[in-house]
Amino acid sequence: MVAKLDNIPETKRMPVLFLGHGNPMNALAHNIFTESLAGVARNIPRPRAVLMISAHWLTNSPRVSCVEKPKTIHYFYGFPDELYRVKYPCPGAPELAAITAGIAPAKMECTLDWGLDHGAWSVLRHMYPQADVPVFELSLDYSLNDWQPKPLRYHYDLGKLLGPLRRKGVLVVGSGNIVHNLGLADFGNMDAAPEDWAVDFDEKVKKHLQNRNHTALIDYLSIGKSATLAVPTLDHYLPMIYTIALQEQDEKLQFTWGGYQHGTISMRCFQIG
Ligand code: ZN
Repeated sequence: MVAKLDNIPETKRMPVLFLGHGNPMNALAHNIFTESLAGVARNIPRPRAVLMISAHWLTNSPRVSCVEKPKTIHYFYGFPDELYRVKYPCPGAPELAAITAGIAPAKMECTLDWGLDHGAWSVLRHMYPQADVPVFELSLDYSLNDWQPKPLRYHYDLGKLLGPLRRKGVLVVGSGNIVHNLGLADFGNMDAAPEDWAVDFDEKVKKHLQNRNHTALIDYLSIGKSATLAVPTLDHYLPMIYTIALQEQDEKLQFTWGGYQHGTISMRCFQIG
């Protein structure tokens, strides 16, 4: 039987989250940032499943992970052994994932070769520590092979297509960072004072989010000179574009966390609805 969205029972409209994930070591931390993640999860309805759009799954075309048991992926180097031992053994959501892949006109590929990267598990560990909420991921179409990156408007439009899932109990989460420059990061000091350009860009994005100015956020280079330093590559910025695309007319946006890591990473998080 082909899975259909109509066959999934309706729920109230679920909120949408954008989460700054920053340093993978946040997965092991217990501090006011990780407590904010737990608090967000406590204050929203328990989802039927989480659809995670992470900065760390880049593909040549949009893909949805349709696995039953997502493996925990440790896609980073040079961290303590303890971090590589972290497992997040949540179930997948193959039926909802297959439905998502089939959402017209996107026609995304259902794939079995991806699990959960740290963009997903480093935050989910704090939100749902029992790993008992099913999770599936949508990749970022980074056009890896054809060298013609899709414009941000393409990602925004693709994000909009996910809207109906919110009334089927699916919590859509974008996991990235609004400012993310590893080349200039002070890796020795997680609490380093933020660079002026990092603060400038983060504050301007904050204003555009408050004013619902999605056009400015899509055309991010027009935000100011700080944009090229704040967003040297699009991978950590794009998950935010998917989340704002899902904001409906009557929905407010509230910030659930703000701050910086290593001087060049904004940890700003927000909730829509
Ligand atoms: Zn990351």
